[in-house]
Amino acid sequence: MSLKKPEDVFASLTYATDDTEFFTPMPAGYVKGKTKYLVVFGTVMSGLGKGIFSSSLAKIMQDKGLRVAPIKLEGYLNHDSGTLNPYRHGEVFVLDDGLECDMDLGTYERMLNQDLSRLNFTTSGQIFSSVLEKERQGRYLGRDVQMIPHVTGEVKLRLRELAVATEADIVFVEIGGTVGDVENAYFIEAIREMSYEEGPKTFCFVALTYIVEPKILGEQKSKPAQLNLKLLNAAGIHPDIIACRASSPVAKKVREKIALFSSVPMERIFSMHDCDSVYVIPEMLRGAGIDTAVLDLIDLADRADDEAEEVAKTLWNSYIHAFRTAEHAITIGIIGKYTTVRDSYASIIQSLEHAGAHLDAKVQIEWVDSTDLMDENVAERLAGLHGVIVPGGFGFRGVDGKIACIKHVRENGIPYLGLCYGMQIAVIEFARHVCGLKHAGSTEIEPDCPDPVIDMLPEQKKIEGLGGTMRLGGFDVAITPGSQVSVLFGGAQRIRLRFRHRYEVHPDYIQILEDKGMVFSGRSPDYPIMQVLELPRTVHPFFMATQAHPELTGRPLRPQPMFLGLVSAALTRSGVTPKTIPGLDGSETDSTASAAAANSPAT
Ligand code: GLN
Repeated sequence: MSLKKPEDVFASLTYATDDTEFFTPMPAGYVKGKTKYLVVFGTVMSGLGKGIFSSSLAKIMQDKGLRVAPIKLEGYLNHDSGTLNPYRHGEVFVLDDGLECDMDLGTYERMLNQDLSRLNFTTSGQIFSSVLEKERQGRYLGRDVQMIPHVTGEVKLRLRELAVATEADIVFVEIGGTVGDVENAYFIEAIREMSYEEGPKTFCFVALTYIVEPKILGEQKSKPAQLNLKLLNAAGIHPDIIACRASSPVAKKVREKIALFSSVPMERIFSMHDCDSVYVIPEMLRGAGIDTAVLDLIDLADRADDEAEEVAKTLWNSYIHAFRTAEHAITIGIIGKYTTVRDSYASIIQSLEHAGAHLDAKVQIEWVDSTDLMDENVAERLAGLHGVIVPGGFGFRGVDGKIACIKHVRENGIPYLGLCYGMQIAVIEFARHVCGLKHAGSTEIEPDCPDPVIDMLPEQKKIEGLGGTMRLGGFDVAITPGSQVSVLFGGAQRIRLRFRHRYEVHPDYIQILEDKGMVFSGRSPDYPIMQVLELPRTVHPFFMATQAHPELTGRPLRPQPMFLGLVSAALTRSGVTPKTIPGLDGSETDSTASAAAANSPAT
């Protein structure tokens, strides 16, 4: 998608005057009627997979050749998701432009195979900051600044800015939280106002609801859904479509009840029950006819391209087929401290699924709590694993367990992929046990550490205290020709990965580590920042780690090459000869092309 610079978008805004009660700041270049809007509201409870639903719906509309632009509106007052605990909120996703945001944006990027930007994510913190800043600039022309129309006006402005910047046919608005929450009430009000301003056939309202099935009754009940849908009516929104989340397909009788109580026609009440992969949901929605209902409701049938849809469907279905029919099974251990909350590692789980499907493998995940691991039990705890990932993390909890784990996999030839913290700890382990630096460590864990092999970034030290202490977003990585990572990326000499870190390999120790056999095969082209490390194949079948978060850029149709490398090595360990991938054996095959494509800029 072609993004205009924010300055161009914000250029000419109209502000409130004393002559009218209407307040609708319009971004420059906004053409009324060009962009349609589809809004997804959650009812009953959170955690229903609103992002998965909304992105699946966006995908099936994109398949028709329509230009789609998602936006998530978060009710919380944080400016972004950077300070949120993944244990409570799920993984913090990072966009190429450096925005730290909700994990749903990861789902959108994967479903749509499209890079998103900060225009696709807004929080109440951003909305209020912007309103308060404008108030100080005197831009409300003597008016008292109110929730309606000024704060709601800011929300409408964001949606229209996205429409202008992306030239979207449909903007998909996902409202965070549940209808009835105080936090998101003004978002819903903004939507109501905007649908009135834009006129008929421009907005499609979709309510996601939940059908309970208490074990004690053994049947599906629709009452919570009915009551919560009434809350949406009370906010002035009448849904056009209702999607019913449930563990098993929603019975016709239950849908009839919902139709009766909500005045939504039966053919627009859909079941969205649990399934084996999130990537199956687009097909489930298409099969239920939601796409044609949407085209009809917002009058877009004449922009839909049937041929494009056939091509997109075939491609997507080939992925689903590969995932479903995968012949081999491997088990990868994820060693972390939040292993009880799967959402904290959502992108890693997805990236393993993508790589597995491309290599004919079902990847089972075994969660290993690093706080329990030590030299004495590590062999037993990791027994049976075909590969190990140490993911990103912060702080000291569980670090000793991770060191014990990495020592074990390094010494025993177990395939290893280290992600961010997983690279830093691999360096500490290697420094301690191979380079003989017994007190090697990270200043994040031990500020006075005698051998700080991992330390704060030199450039970050300068700006610390100013708030911008994390290295965030997409950066180029210069790849050493002939290295394993270079082969995995189809011979590319420059790749782009996403980062979120504050510490890095201390430049003073690079030579010492390299002298003992650690290979830094990916480096920042601009600073002495080590971004990928590996051990030669002569000493280990697959030992790779990166300062980046490669899991953030894995896509079903574009599996992340480092994950392909891990899964391939894990297959070998399980006794199966893997399909050749950009090969650790250097051969060129079809899948070389797919890995090389993984490095090409997103479409
Ligand atoms: N805590 C480490 C750092 O700040 C690693 C961060 C991460 O894994 N995302 O550098």
